[in-house]
Amino acid sequence: MTFADLGLSDELLRAVGDAGYDTPTPIQKGAITPTLMGKDLIGIAQTGTGKTASFVLPMIDILAEGRSRARMPRSLILEPTRELAAQVAENFEKYGKYHPGLSMALLIGGVQMGDQIKQLEKGVDVLIATPGRLLDLFERGKILLNGCDLLVIDEADRMLDMGFIPDIESICQKLPRNRQTLLFSATMPPPIKKLADQFLTDPKTVEV
Ligand code: AMP
Repeated sequence: MTFADLGLSDELLRAVGDAGYDTPTPIQKGAITPTLMGKDLIGIAQTGTGKTASFVLPMIDILAEGRSRARMPRSLILEPTRELAAQVAENFEKYGKYHPGLSMALLIGGVQMGDQIKQLEKGVDVLIATPGRLLDLFERGKILLNGCDLLVIDEADRMLDMGFIPDIESICQKLPRNRQTLLFSATMPPPIKKLADQFLTDPKTVEV
């Protein structure tokens, strides 16, 4: 199976070629096509398996149609740490190089909110965020989450270890009900299974 078999656009196949990837990894083989088809997904995969591309690539194709409005992002990627969020943002830029119209905001703690607020006011397609900063901006009225119909919860087991599950529940409740949700975790302890039962609908599970 090649990247061309997965249903990605020519622009993404070019970006993947530029990145030097020949073959999709197992998580990419299992996750990309169902995501493009709109299914909810549980990806049981560790860092280093190519999992970031398995959600960023289809997300870019899903977003390529349509436009964002001020303060109403269309997708949200939740990461447990600033470092992981920054890495996902780099991946988004790398794979999105032939989609210059797509914009993103990195919403992490430890940096001034002013620039983040300015970006949100201009309108962004994707938020890549840690839960605390996202909720802070939401509570200040700087983000509307009701247009966000694609959610990725990445590194769910680390979110659990760091005590972020209540924040994630609170964020999920602010998103539209009829959204698509992808959850990635290296392991599936009971609280993560419960989270998936609560917030995913008929998910496909891909374990690598
Ligand atoms: P991740 O698991 O998302 O942190 O990715 C781990 C590393 O694998 C990153 O440095 C990616 O650039 C690289 N990578 C992702 N997909 C592929 C692929 N299909 N072939 C080769 N390398 C890849």
